[in-house]
Amino acid sequence: MSTVLVIGAGGVSSVAVHKMAMNADIFSDIHLASRTKSKCDAIAASVKDRTGQQVKTYEIDAEEVPAMINLIRSLNPSLVVNLALPYQDLPIMDACLEAGVDYLDTANYEPKDEAKFEYKWQWAYHDRFKEAGLMALLGSGFDPGVTSVFSMWLKKHKLKTIRTLDILDCNGGDHGQAFATNFNPEINIREVTAPARHWENGEFVETPAMSKKVAFDFEEVGQKNMYMMYHEELESLAKFLPELERGRFWMTFGDEYIKHLTVLQNVGMTGIEPIQFQGKDIIPLQFLAAVLPKPETLGETTKGKTNIGVIATGEALDGSGEKTFYIKNICNHEDAYAETGNQAVSYTTGVPAMIGSAMMLTGKWKGDGVFNMEEFDPDLFLEMLNENGLPWKVEELAGPVEF
Ligand code: NDP
Repeated sequence: MSTVLVIGAGGVSSVAVHKMAMNADIFSDIHLASRTKSKCDAIAASVKDRTGQQVKTYEIDAEEVPAMINLIRSLNPSLVVNLALPYQDLPIMDACLEAGVDYLDTANYEPKDEAKFEYKWQWAYHDRFKEAGLMALLGSGFDPGVTSVFSMWLKKHKLKTIRTLDILDCNGGDHGQAFATNFNPEINIREVTAPARHWENGEFVETPAMSKKVAFDFEEVGQKNMYMMYHEELESLAKFLPELERGRFWMTFGDEYIKHLTVLQNVGMTGIEPIQFQGKDIIPLQFLAAVLPKPETLGETTKGKTNIGVIATGEALDGSGEKTFYIKNICNHEDAYAETGNQAVSYTTGVPAMIGSAMMLTGKWKGDGVFNMEEFDPDLFLEMLNENGLPWKVEELAGPVEF
């Protein structure tokens, strides 16, 4: 029985709040606050309709720390769940410290004027959370999030050491639009246009964005081109798997997506430096995000499946030599939409955000300080993943990946 305050009212928040309401024994009192209150009200109405549970809503600019502190103090939650944008991570963490409440998010902090996402800013809060006797859990989405938990499950149950690790993120969904992003367009485009980085022999190696492409046959989706890119869990995995020789992240993109993105980049529409337009400063990428379809409107038309997993190779726990395992979840866009009114990209993020929150509220995962997903027992989390709409499976492959 706990009170929780969720910040942000996009697709991820919508799924997380629906799923919290479906676990009312843990989340007995749900509060939802965001910049646009009408979006909170729409989520609350859908939750009421689907589950009968009441969600109370508020308007807040999460970057206004004093206002956040007041809101937290007035509601007295056990946990603040940050499902707004990465830019708000630090102000919300500041407010949590001041108001004395635990914190969770799904994406690491990124400064608005620098497309650079790293854990260093949030790891720097560790001592302050520890001294205050508070807990912050970072990156409790799918990737980052479940991919780290999958990796630690393999380390616990299958492999004594992990030598190589590849995270494969496939969205085989089709939304019928020429070009749209499945989550916040600004964050998504900043991520895919950044240089690729992978972990190799103790350091990050940088290569040009989208320059390494591999065709891979994904179960229940089929053959797709995936591109190597940087993703934030590589930083925490390299830290918590010190034996890791090589860690890479791959994401699938269709040829149409690449074509549109290339043109948009070439004409300067993905820039994050302000430009003067009709006497006003505008940021091209923010303008682009404003004209693209809103991710939360894609759910109704999206068909197909996501398939996200980890392939890891290392020394088997049972002493049988080097082994390779593939652990993954496959999620159907239409099923996700039928259950919560959101497509699978929001669903696969919102469900783990709810589960991470449940781990903290039930005390199954606990500690004082700032933590990553790799630091806790993966079994309890993955048990809940199975029970809450994202079943996972593991298989042994014949040998290491050859790409
Ligand atoms: P959306 O853009 O759909 O939603 C973001 C929400 O945050 C909006 O409701 C927005 O308000 C609100 N918001 C933005 N700025 C503020 C502010 N200053 N104060 C209060 N609220 C604010 O994003 P998504 O739902 O797609 O993504 C949410 C988060 O999840 C992001 O951080 C994203 O990076 C992360 N994510 C993580 C994944 C993972 O697997 N780990 C995968 C996908 C996403 P408004 O409606 O007014 O714009």
